[in-house]
Parts: sequence; structure tokens; C-alpha cells
Amino acid sequence: LKVTISEIDIPCSFGPAYEGERVRGKDLFCQMGGGKTLCTEFLEIADMNAIEDGKVTVVGPDITDIKEGDVLPLGIFMQAAGREFQEDFEPILERQTHHLINYIQGVMHAGQRDIAWVRVSKAAVEKGFTLKDLGVVLHAKLHQDFKAIVDKIQVTLYTKQEDVDKLTAKARAAYVHRDSRVDKMTDEDVETFYSCTLCQSFAPSHVCTVSPERTGLCGAYNWMDCKASYQINPTGPNQPIEKGEVLNAKLGEFKGVNEFVAKASRGAVTKYNFYSMVQDPMTTCGCCEAIAAMLPACNGVMTVNREYTGETPCGMKFTTLAGVMGGGASSPGFVGHSKFNITQRKFILGDGGILRMVWMPKALKEEIRGRFEKRAEEMGHPGLLDKIADETVGLTEEEILPFLQEKGHPALDMEPLVG
Ligand code: SF4
Ligand code: ZN
Repeated sequence: LKVTISEIDIPCSFGPAYEGERVRGKDLFCQMGGGKTLCTEFLEIADMNAIEDGKVTVVGPDITDIKEGDVLPLGIFMQAAGREFQEDFEPILERQTHHLINYIQGVMHAGQRDIAWVRVSKAAVEKGFTLKDLGVVLHAKLHQDFKAIVDKIQVTLYTKQEDVDKLTAKARAAYVHRDSRVDKMTDEDVETFYSCTLCQSFAPSHVCTVSPERTGLCGAYNWMDCKASYQINPTGPNQPIEKGEVLNAKLGEFKGVNEFVAKASRGAVTKYNFYSMVQDPMTTCGCCEAIAAMLPACNGVMTVNREYTGETPCGMKFTTLAGVMGGGASSPGFVGHSKFNITQRKFILGDGGILRMVWMPKALKEEIRGRFEKRAEEMGHPGLLDKIADETVGLTEEEILPFLQEKGHPALDMEPLVG
């Protein structure tokens, strides 16, 4: 028996009309995540008998227990069951939280996975909004939009630190498992890439192309996920793209990708290079996990992840970069990408790949150390990570250049970044 939900029982208005709405500082009641606290979203397959459809539980304080200006950690744990439901579908349903939470009037969602960010306005709280309503929305819409594969959805919202930590540890293990599913594949192995246009409501000309060696810039969708999403919903946001003729193998220009992007951006972007950030890079939307920028004086590039809130050698903080680049344009010299993508083999390979990387926040370096070192070794530069500057070395190109020289960073001997 399939449950059909036509109305969503929450005190706020709900619908795509509210998706682009922001919750600004003066309107803010409380927030979760966004670097202030940990906010993790995780959807996991469950046994049909292990969960109860429509059950929504808040474990820990809710909005009614806190005061204006407070922050809370948040774990959004969704469990899905269905005869047709597979583990492969987890990331697709999980990623729906982005637009579904944004559909609630007065509530804003950004980020994904363990770097999500939820902001709740005073207006929503005045109408009676509570965190439980997040679960009500997710249950109702996941049911409605994925009725072919979902029979039951149960949602648990954790707001106590220890519970959020526990959920996050479990989620991170799943993220690693998901990412590793494309690890052995190469772009040359496949004839078909996939598009993702889920973010066009925020960035109208943005089209992510997702290949085995380039996950979506939000980090939440890889090639396998897009393929599964297309199977579930053949007319949805993830469409197959036949690569077609290779126009430039080094920069990653494919005839089929260009044609698809031109159509999907309604002519706003007519081409992009898949393996370059210098020349006609892919478009960027606001949910990228990191943004790479050129550092011409160092003949290299830097990248900064969302969690790092300080200044960077390109002269802009992450939030400023995301504001400038995140509208869906292709901005030569800059590109949004996922954290995992840094260690995928095709990462800005047309510009020299990770051998160009001269600055990254320290925490990001540590987060990707294992995979980065492996990749650096493959490229003939073991120990590269420790030649890369971070905020403890400097925050301007002038400050980091002597460090790069002293360490013998390979970027200094490469051909000029801008020809
Ligand atoms: Fe899809 Fe790209 Fe948006 Fe991620 S960032 S949801 S892959 S369009
Ligand atoms: Zn986006």
C-alpha cells in the first residue's frame, strides 16, 4: 500500500517559491551548522520492519527550548525502506534535503553531508515552526517524490552533541564508502557522463557535469549516484551526457558536454573545459565544498574549503568567493569543486593537477592527507603535501613564496600558469 501525501502538515507555507529566499542576520532566530556547530544529514537504508513510516522524533532540545540567537548542533537522520529501495539510492534521497528544507518559508538550507547549515527565521518561529517540522517535510516529500522506490520513511532529529557526533561518525564512514565506488573508474572507461541541474533554482545557468573522476562540486553526487538517480527518475535533474568527440583531451573539452551545457543553461554557457580552472572552467554554484583560485605570483593555485573562515592568499575568504563565483557562471581562474575531487586523478589536470597546489587550509590538508599523498606519489612527487603552504605559513602570495622556494615546490618550475 502506497501512502499518498498531498498536504504537508507544518505551520509555515511550503513550496518551490521559497527556495531562493535567504534568512539574513536581522531576521535570524537560530541556526545549526554553518561552521558554528556540527550539522550532519544522513539517509540510510533500513529493514522494512525496523522503522515506522511517518515517525518523526526530536531527541534533545527543540526550537521551543532555546532563545533567539542560540545555535544547536543538528543530526538529520533519515531511514528509508522499500521493496525496490537499494543502498545506491541513499545519496540521492539524502541530497533532497537541500531543496526540500529550502521550500519551507523562512527556513534556509546550505551545504550537505556533514557540513550542512540550517537557518531559521523569527517569522517561521512566530508561526510555530519547530525542528520536528523538518522531519514532517522530509517524510512527506520523499514519499511523494520517490513513491516508486520508497515505502517507509522515518526521521530522527538529534540536537545533543554526543548524538550528533555519533551520527556523524557513522555518516562519514558511509560517505567514504560512497566515494570509493568510483575510485577504480576512469573517465576514459565510460562513454557517458551525467549532468546535475538540481542547483539551477539558485544558479540558473549552472550545470554540473559529473564523471567517474569528477564528483559534483557539492561532494554529494558522484557518477554512480547520478546514474542511479537517472534510473529512478529518467526525466529528472541527472541526465546522461554522451561525451562525443574529444575536442581537447588535455583541457577536457568534449563536444557532447558542450552541446548539453549550452542547452541546459539555455544558451548562457556554450562550452566549458572539464579539466581546467584557468581556461573556460566548469560553472560554479553556491554549494561547492571548496573553491580553487589562481595565485599567479606563485605560478600555482590555492583552494579553500567552506569550513575555513579566515583570509586566503587570493585576497578573498570562502564566503566572498562563493558569493562572487556561485551564481552559475564560468569564471576563468576560479572553480568550485568537492573536497574529494582534489584527490581524483583528473582534478585540474589540464593546468598541471595537484602539482599546481601551493596553498590549502591546514585542516583540509590533514583531512585529505592519505589520499593526497597517494596521488602525489603517482604523479612522481612523494611528500608534496608538506611543500604546500597553509595559514600558518602565510595569507598572501608574498608571504608563502619563500616557503615554496625553500621546499622546492614543483609549481615553481612548471610552465607559466597563464600563457
Ligand atoms: Fe547537483 Fe552540482 Fe548541485 Fe551537487 S552542486 S546538487 S551535483 S548541481
Ligand atoms: Zn549548488
